[in-house]
Amino acid sequence: MYKKLFIPGPVNVLDDVLEKMATPMIGHRTKEASNIQRSISEKMQKLWSTKEQIILSTSSGSGLMEGAIRSCTRKKAAVFSVGAFGDRWHKMAISNGVKADKYASEWGQPTTPEMVDKALSTGEYDLLTITHNETSTGLMNPIVEIAEVVKKYPEVIFCVDMVSSAGGAKVEVDKLGIDICITSTQKCLGLPPGMAICSFSKKAVERAELVENRGMYFDLLALYKYILKKDHQYPSTPTLSHMFALDYKLDKMEKEGFDAIYDRHEENAKFVRAWANKYFKMFAEEKYASNTLTTILNTREISVADLNKKLGERGFTISNGYGDLKEKTFRIAHMADTTHEELEELLGQIEDILNLK
Ligand SMILES: *Cc1c(COP(=O)(O)O)cnc(C)c1O
Repeated sequence: MYKKLFIPGPVNVLDDVLEKMATPMIGHRTKEASNIQRSISEKMQKLWSTKEQIILSTSSGSGLMEGAIRSCTRKKAAVFSVGAFGDRWHKMAISNGVKADKYASEWGQPTTPEMVDKALSTGEYDLLTITHNETSTGLMNPIVEIAEVVKKYPEVIFCVDMVSSAGGAKVEVDKLGIDICITSTQKCLGLPPGMAICSFSKKAVERAELVENRGMYFDLLALYKYILKKDHQYPSTPTLSHMFALDYKLDKMEKEGFDAIYDRHEENAKFVRAWANKYFKMFAEEKYASNTLTTILNTREISVADLNKKLGERGFTISNGYGDLKEKTFRIAHMADTTHEELEELLGQIEDILNLK
């Protein structure tokens, strides 16, 4: 049975967007292919307020995360982790033979500008990674304050994981001095999984030129050069189906208005947080609570698996906690095209199942 998804990716895809995935194929070496890939790049530049090159990748977001840390670290990377996805970035570095240190916050707590300043002031690092929105803990890092500190260290490449926030929360890439900003299609952009997108600054290009072993498929410098040489085409065959849908979806988003979309995410987040505080407790410190998903502490010790099974019978699904947080927390996503009415309906069902009053 088809279930309405309230999980932090993949998200529900609007019918008209889904239909674009069924557009008849074109050759990937045609002018048409160049046109659509260029068009997406220009629209992503608008979304992220950046003049830097956009790189599209036929992979999920993890591919570009791995590519970024491998292609642009020469000395050592400082990986700031506030949960599962920060930990993953560190693992990617180590398994690629890239030197990296992990600076972990207690789960539910943010990366602070002070932590970043202290680490970078050692002069040991030439790249840092920040998780903007941590999908395990439901936490949004203070990216503007962190960016202020990073500006003091111009030799450091600034990478940001925006996989679960791009299109759901405002981040101005050039203003914040972000060199590589990464996202994928199945979260706030509201498309099926299978494609990832990043920005790639001139500074990142210069750095990558000096890195010897950048890998092959996710060599960001090679992708960048190919885009310039072949008018926005790619070395391998890209997921053209996603391109058709993303190009269309970005128009749709511009029509709704990026700020209006961010406001809608914030309103929905506030609504779910108020509900969480009424019946349970928030996992992340409230001040840093995410606007795209809410991680709720299971203070009533309900069986989350049972709840989800019963929700499933009614056509809804939420997420259990991530990893060690399974059953200790549960997660409700409010990403992409989710409406207030849909959340109201979901929370009403949960209240009914759990007999909450
Ligand atoms: C989902 C997610 C990822 C992984 O992205 P994929 O597209 O699944 O590879 C990385 N970071 C964050 C914060 C995520 O939410």
